[in-house]
Amino acid sequence: MILKDALLKGIKLLKSADIDTPALEAGVLLCHVLNVDRSFLYSHDDYSMKDEEYEKFAAFLDERVRGKPLQYITGHQEFMSLDFIVTPDVLIPRQDTETLVEVVLGHVKDTGLKNARILDIGTGSGCIAVSLAHFVKDCRVLAVDISEGALATAEANARRCGVEDRVSFLKGDVFGGLFNAIAQSPFAKVTEHNEEGIFDIIVSNPPYIPAEEIKTLHRQVKDFEPGTALNGGEDGLDFYRVITCEATKLLSPGSLLAFEVGYGQAKDVWGLMERSYCAIKSVKDLAGIDRVVMGYRK
Ligand code: GLN
Repeated sequence: MILKDALLKGIKLLKSADIDTPALEAGVLLCHVLNVDRSFLYSHDDYSMKDEEYEKFAAFLDERVRGKPLQYITGHQEFMSLDFIVTPDVLIPRQDTETLVEVVLGHVKDTGLKNARILDIGTGSGCIAVSLAHFVKDCRVLAVDISEGALATAEANARRCGVEDRVSFLKGDVFGGLFNAIAQSPFAKVTEHNEEGIFDIIVSNPPYIPAEEIKTLHRQVKDFEPGTALNGGEDGLDFYRVITCEATKLLSPGSLLAFEVGYGQAKDVWGLMERSYCAIKSVKDLAGIDRVVMGYRK
């Protein structure tokens, strides 16, 4: 099969399956099979594909048509200009989440914070923890998650981005002893510096979809992304409730707590933070939706 014909066939198939960007995705899958970058598709459109290459392409197209997200097929997603490994154990990093990382980077820059001690709760792929470690060269990050599969993926991403020396990992459940485990962890001991509070910054993009709404999500999300990464309890706010409360024990006055929130949740999360945090504000994402809520420990 000639490359150009394979590509056209792929585009047609994805289009018939109602995939929004069929040409882009067929191209990505073809590049993945051939292990080449996109320019190859234009410069070698007469390339004669080996049978096994075409079969692999056809199998990937079939998976995509059945709803599997592209990133779980290729195993990669770009985030903050870094390349992240994604496995079915983790949520695919979203562009919206870059808003949260940018807010934290802005805070570090504006305050001149040195040797920042950062906690990322529900690290998933590690996209937040690893990109903060990449951009803030003197920080140390503790990344926690309930899922061993997610932690393994996040660790692989830390190594891939060369920040494994400054990112530590801890398994735990925010509803069951995680915060005590953090306080007892080697990270807390190393970074305490005899100050009040263990962290200068706590950041989280927790699961925030109300349980009943999960079944209404696009099948690409609900059938393939991990339920534990999505389910925020009855009203979607369970994680915000426990984290706003427990985080106060780990932060010293003036330290930052910053959350990603779901559509329409900013006001509620703001309300949860009011008791123990001051100068609370929300920040919009590129689509103009309130995406981050942040405040400083009173
Ligand atoms: N922290 C990861 C991310 O932002 C995972 C979030 C989650 O699983 N809820 O992508």
